[in-house]
Amino acid sequence: EKPASRNFIEQIIDADLAAAKNVDQIHTRFPPEPNGYLHIGHAKSICLNYGLAQQYGGKFNLRFDDTNPTREEQEYVDSIMDDVRWLGANWEDRLFFASDYFEQLHDWAVKLIKAGKAFVCDLTADEMREYRGTLVKPGKNSPDRDRRVDENLELFAKMKAGEFPDGSRTLRAKIDMAAPNINLRDPVMYRIKHAHHHRTGDTWCIYPSYDYTHGQSDSIEGITYSICTLEFENHRPLYDWFCEALGIHHPRQIEFARLNLTYTVMSKRKLLQLVTEKHVSGWDDPRMPTIRGLRRRGYTTESIQAFCERIGVAKFNSTIDMAWLEDAVREDLNEKAFRALAVLNPLKIVLTNLEPGQTIDIEAPNHPQNPEAGMRTLPLTREILIEADDFMEDAPKKFFRLRPGGEVRLRCAGIIKCDEVVKDAAGNVTELRCTFDPDHARKVKGTIHWVSAARALSAEVRLYDHLCAVENPEDVPEGKTFIDNLNPNSLQSITAHLEPSLVDAIPGTHIQFERLGYFFVDPVDSTPNKPVFNRTATLRDSWTK
Ligand code: ATP
Ligand code: MG
Ligand code: MG
Repeated sequence: EKPASRNFIEQIIDADLAAAKNVDQIHTRFPPEPNGYLHIGHAKSICLNYGLAQQYGGKFNLRFDDTNPTREEQEYVDSIMDDVRWLGANWEDRLFFASDYFEQLHDWAVKLIKAGKAFVCDLTADEMREYRGTLVKPGKNSPDRDRRVDENLELFAKMKAGEFPDGSRTLRAKIDMAAPNINLRDPVMYRIKHAHHHRTGDTWCIYPSYDYTHGQSDSIEGITYSICTLEFENHRPLYDWFCEALGIHHPRQIEFARLNLTYTVMSKRKLLQLVTEKHVSGWDDPRMPTIRGLRRRGYTTESIQAFCERIGVAKFNSTIDMAWLEDAVREDLNEKAFRALAVLNPLKIVLTNLEPGQTIDIEAPNHPQNPEAGMRTLPLTREILIEADDFMEDAPKKFFRLRPGGEVRLRCAGIIKCDEVVKDAAGNVTELRCTFDPDHARKVKGTIHWVSAARALSAEVRLYDHLCAVENPEDVPEGKTFIDNLNPNSLQSITAHLEPSLVDAIPGTHIQFERLGYFFVDPVDSTPNKPVFNRTATLRDSWTK
């Protein structure tokens, strides 16, 4: 079903459909380079491309843009496939690799040489840069630009046969060295690189450039809309030039603004740096904006889909507030997550009117809005733990939790009254002595969470803050990098006290610790009877006040 307000890409497609242009059936793709793990920006592109295919009854391809042998690995291919699947995008049997097109791309290059539209160039990389010119200065023709076709064919064949060292020659498209768009100044189509490719092995020692590969791969697959980010806007004339020069199916390239988020970085190169320099524990560190990291943090497929839907598609770059992402997961988990009680920073309470060894079974709903979720039992014992900051000795009037002589409700259990405050020699509060009243009808203003001191499960709980200490970590003065803006307090690991039922918490489950946030049972570090909890997100601040 189509939403009422249409984004600019939908408007383009609608117009094409109305004009019966370009579209028997719309066909999109997601074209990652397997040189790292996917991040939330990629999720945006996946949801967009897959979403359009779904919406218009079209097709969606997953294609690995694997033309750069030195940076690509099978590990990345596997993780990308898993993450795309997890995000709900189904490529069915349409999984492709640009490297499968190497033969075709080579044949087309020969065709361009024969048509006088490509030539072998002997300039070094430095010379080429110099000849290219600048935005304000036109480039100069390569001395090799007018090589005869037969000589070009022979040299290109020798490049392919491995007769020349890396970097000694290139194949270039012959377009226009004076073009205002630098991408059209005889761009490189092939480089010599004697490198092992993760799929084609040592078959090739010449590799096609991104610009020469991308559009042709789209064309081979019958893509109708090649949707990419704005950096490629000024590559579009080149994209179009290759399709026209080869006389092949010509997809339409459409650019949209890439997703940027506050308090993090979002380029594979930088994320890789965080991993290799061990600023994080790996690509799946829950502080990372990678899909792996978000998954391990406790983000759900639905929350990321909703986030991508909500931020929409823009034509201008901007930075989205991280709070949008957190809101999306809260909304989803509010419905899905069962509730539990946990105390992070304990203060002991003795319920003086309970016998030592006495246990009262308290029935608590697993989900307050969903009776079908059932009930669980919490043991109430003479000694319990509450959150230290739920007690205040000199409490202001509006403090509705516990104070000397005051009353507060223990979640699901009843009401306690603070009769006595016990302190150590230094004057620190060490315990409270209270009386317990099982009354459920009487009204008191505040409700706090608690666990049985004797029966609580001690477990590792990881609390996260933003990866970076500032909103725009890449905004740095000379001599600094985003590394200088990492948040030293982004991870806090504590031993918390949990209701005993959580001993069997299954790795990969979402749980709301009431008043504290949504937590995810860590699928990596949890062991039987020893769950580890990652805080996915806090609850809305207003909740705890
Ligand atoms: P990075 O700069 O993070 O390494 P990339 O563009 O080099 O990203 P690719 O693997 O080439 O990574 O990207 C695959 C697809 O994902 C491309 O179509 C790209 O435009 C899109 N994409 C990458 N980053 C973002 C982003 N932040 N927002 C939206 N789409 C993105
Ligand atoms: Mg790329
Ligand atoms: Mg990149």
